[in-house]
Amino acid sequence: NTSTGAPNAVEITGLKKIFNAGKPNAVEALVDVDLSIEPGEFVSLIGPSGCGKSTLLRMVANLLEPTSGSVLVNGKPAATARKEQDYGMAFQQSGLFEWRSVVRNIELPLELKGWDKAKRRARALEMLELVKLGDFASHMPWQLSGGMQQRVAIARALAAHPPLLLMDEPFGALDAMTRQGLQDEVLSLVRASDATVVFVTHDLEEAIYLGDRVIGLLPHPGRIGIELKIDLPRPRDQLTTRENPEFLRLRRELFDFI
Ligand code: ADP
Ligand code: MG
Repeated sequence: NTSTGAPNAVEITGLKKIFNAGKPNAVEALVDVDLSIEPGEFVSLIGPSGCGKSTLLRMVANLLEPTSGSVLVNGKPAATARKEQDYGMAFQQSGLFEWRSVVRNIELPLELKGWDKAKRRARALEMLELVKLGDFASHMPWQLSGGMQQRVAIARALAAHPPLLLMDEPFGALDAMTRQGLQDEVLSLVRASDATVVFVTHDLEEAIYLGDRVIGLLPHPGRIGIELKIDLPRPRDQLTTRENPEFLRLRRELFDFI
């Protein structure tokens, strides 16, 4: 990120992941991945099932060790960034704790950061308002629909103002209407928080609609195959953005690639 001199939000160099290396069932999940992401950038990762999207995200999150290569987050090794809780994460399964009420789920990362009780309750309630679930604070997760659970997961991921938000097909299990509503909620939350986002999806239009940049992966071995800069105006809008000729052109280009 030469323009400001600040470290890149994510700096991936020569990254490779082989599962079961040296065994007959070895899988080259990712090879030769180089990727720089600027602070505040929204990057969509797209590609067919099995091309290594989750593997890449998990190495950025320090949930998985690379076979070789390096991942820096905010200029630090991923392990350090994880210890310092630079991340918020939201995955396809909402990952809510069933025995905790909605508001106490959102408080969890704040508890881990050592926020006092009053401050974390206030912040959790504020996040619930932002995802339009103000009336559900004391509900248990199972009392909410799938879309509502996912909104709670997003609120939890962003509650502690993490500089980097990692999302792995967070809307994968939801119907199209719910999904579009959540796309807009994520965009407005991210805009308000200045977070950098890496968003994994297998939905081409979702990737373009959300992103400043779309990175397309190819399978066997998993690798970067295409990078598209998305110069669509913000704020994005479900009707006008999707009808923009540039949107249609980008969709065509990605479709041909995949
Ligand atoms: P995607 O998220 O794009 O669908 P993944 O990153 O989950 O793809 O997987 C990439 C490849 O690595 C796939 O071939 C998958 O089967 C393989 N893989 C993922 N995790 C493991 C694992 N823990 N052990 C062995 N192979 C794995
Ligand atoms: Mg995956």
